[in-house]
Order: sequence, then C-alpha cells, then structure tokens
Amino acid sequence: MIIEKQTLHYILLLTMFDFIIYVVGEIEASFRAFLDIIIPRGCCSCGRALVRKELFICCHCLAEFPQTRFDCKEQTELEKRFWGRFPIERATALYYFHHEGVRHLIHRIKYFNNRKLALYMGVFMANQIKDRSTFFEGIDIIIPVPLHPKRIHRRGYNQSQILANGVSKSIGVYVDNRIIKRAIYNPTQTLLNRDERWDNVQDIFQLTDPDTIANKHILLIDDVLTTGSTIVACAQELMKAPNVKVSILTLAMARIH
Ligand SMILES: [Zn+2]
Repeated sequence: MIIEKQTLHYILLLTMFDFIIYVVGEIEASFRAFLDIIIPRGCCSCGRALVRKELFICCHCLAEFPQTRFDCKEQTELEKRFWGRFPIERATALYYFHHEGVRHLIHRIKYFNNRKLALYMGVFMANQIKDRSTFFEGIDIIIPVPLHPKRIHRRGYNQSQILANGVSKSIGVYVDNRIIKRAIYNPTQTLLNRDERWDNVQDIFQLTDPDTIANKHILLIDDVLTTGSTIVACAQELMKAPNVKVSILTLAMARIH
C-alpha cells in the first residue's frame, strides 16, 4: 500500500512538472508574441518581420537557401577540391554561398558580433545533416578553424568556434579549441586571388597538443569555404599527429569555376 502511494505521488509529481514546463513554454511564446508587436524581430537574412515560431531566420529564407546535401552524396565537388592536398575522410557544407540570402546571413554572423545567430545556425546545420545522413558517425572531436588572437580581439569572437559549439550541442561531441592555434597574423583572404590565398596560409597554424588527437577522427569546422586553402593548411597541420582522420563541415561553400 505504501509503495502504491509513493508511485501515485511520483506520477502526480511528473504530471505537475510536465504541466509547469508547458505553462512556462506558453508564457514564453506569448511574451515573445507580445514583444514582436512592440519591437518586431527581423529575419537575419531578408529583414522580413518574424512570426511567433520563427527564430532568427524566416521560413521563406530557410526554404529558399540552396542546400548542397553533400552529406548524402559521394565523391562530391567539395571532396574533390581536397584530393591531392590531404587524405580527407568526409566533407560537406550546408549551403552554397552564391545565394544572396546566404551571403547576408554569413555577413551577419561574421561582422555583427551575433553569437546567438552563430550558435543557432550551428545547431540548425547539425540537426539538418544528422536527420538525413550518417555524416557524423565516428566523429571523436570537433575543432573550429582558429583565428589569430588579434583578429578575435578586433571581431569580438571566432565565428567558427560558436558554430562548432552549436554543432556540439546537437551531436553531443566535445569541442576542443586548444589543440591547434593560429601562429601567424596573416592578412585577410578576402581581397586575394586564388594563388595568393594558397601562399598566404603557408605555415600559419601550429599544432600544440598532438597527443590529444592521436588515433582520433576530427571534425574541422569553418564558416565559409572558398578555395579551401585555409582549411587545407589547418588539416595538414592536424595530420602531423599520428593516425588522425579529418572530416570537414562548413556553413557555406563558394563554387569555383
Ligand atoms: Zn528571411
């Protein structure tokens, strides 16, 4: 009889707990809807006012952004870009960079100190990929492509680090940003041509803790991949550790013609 009473109390407690969570969720949603009337939230890509269930990006933009879906394919144009540079395990990017909306989104993440948006996109990117593919299978550590401390100081944060935190939240693999560092403060790649980009990244990374990644499968994360020169330089440095596998994930990739 005592056990039955305890079970009943337990069930009542759980029901109450569920009810409280439901009420808090409804209050939060109503409060957000109220705030949307007073201070409308805008889509981080197109600027259109967001509706109650939308976060950061409107559903029109999310439907329009061109996804590569490379995580569902083999021998993609992205993987081929690394052939002959280093033995890549897997590579994918969520979006193509040529779409204007995607470019706006990346710009907001990179130059507007928008950590919440970067974290949201990290989680969103990983959720999309893990729901449709086995891309994350066997990944042991997530490593964001590091920025030089001077650039972090100027920009406020490393956008790849925050994206990596979001991916980690979704797939439950830890992020380590101490294993490799950017030893040289090189000029930004944006204004350089293809050959200059490859020269600009020579020896800029330094592996500080090879033992931690020995025999591990690393997921290297960056925001945008253009020629791939920065990621290749970073991956080559990581591969100085024994028996390391490297896969690559970026939020967007530019097509090279
Ligand atoms: Zn939008």
